[in-house]
Amino acid sequence: MKPSELYYDFNTYLRETFGCRVQKITIDAGLTCPNRDGSISYGGCIYCNERGSGTGAIAHTPGVKEQLERGKASLAGRYKARKFLAYFQSFSNTYGPLPRLRALYEEALEVEDIVGLSIGTRPDCVPDDVLDTLQELSNDRSIWIEYGLQSAHDATLDRINRGHTVGAFSDAVSRTRLRRLPICAHVILGLPGENRNDMLNTARFLASHDIQAVKIHLLYVVRGTVLDGWYRAGVFQCLSLEEYTSIVSEFLSLLPPQLIIQRLTSDPHPEELAAPAWALQKQQNIQAIHDYMKQHALYQAKFYKKLETTCSS
Ligand code: SF4
Repeated sequence: MKPSELYYDFNTYLRETFGCRVQKITIDAGLTCPNRDGSISYGGCIYCNERGSGTGAIAHTPGVKEQLERGKASLAGRYKARKFLAYFQSFSNTYGPLPRLRALYEEALEVEDIVGLSIGTRPDCVPDDVLDTLQELSNDRSIWIEYGLQSAHDATLDRINRGHTVGAFSDAVSRTRLRRLPICAHVILGLPGENRNDMLNTARFLASHDIQAVKIHLLYVVRGTVLDGWYRAGVFQCLSLEEYTSIVSEFLSLLPPQLIIQRLTSDPHPEELAAPAWALQKQQNIQAIHDYMKQHALYQAKFYKKLETTCSS
């Protein structure tokens, strides 16, 4: 059984849309985040380090164009990709003066074989003028906005010092979809204080919103973060692989069938990871999720219930 028979995976979507293999190229645009620069807080989310949730894989190179050219050369060889999406991943990529943001987006779109952008940001950090600009640039390109929701529970967002509410996400989704830009929501499983039911309620929440894709992350502990302190003090425990595979599988079963699954787990840097060690085995972990779904006859949307609106007239 292929992943595409268990869930609607991103590679399948990209092939259907562009007719060829498309890879995302991660870039660091040198922006920051209001939850780290003091606008909201200085500490940031409890699991975030100075990379700002980016991979840092090809970060700190001089400019967007050069990062993209390097990424293209590397990914074309590795995956035989012919088209690419520029993924503004690190920190909040709608946070900054509009002329600067526009110049960064345009620089990326001018690179040959870049078929679109994916802009990672916070849901409380998308002014209408930035969304208008992205809508304008999306004329013949695919421009995605990736919003970090993480959890559909305000108590959890408080606990992790997220600095925004669940309502901010709903508001951002409405304003983004008014402009017909596709949305990918990020969630994290295993957040402190959350049980299985809380996490599955986040899936139900996503299913009730007009979003087009989701990335599911495992919460792992990065050395030197607030979460690392909690972990070392014994007040936070990571999910086991068995717990994670079963929760992700059930999570997928609650999502609508057309929702694109962009990610099933996290991909930590070995040198930064404090726990859990199993998180480093990304391919085996994805296989474990597939195996669990097959063994339990689960698939995306198996338990999805569309909220019916009743008409009173
Ligand atoms: S919103 Fe992202 S970049 Fe900002 S503190 Fe949280 S994880 Fe870090």
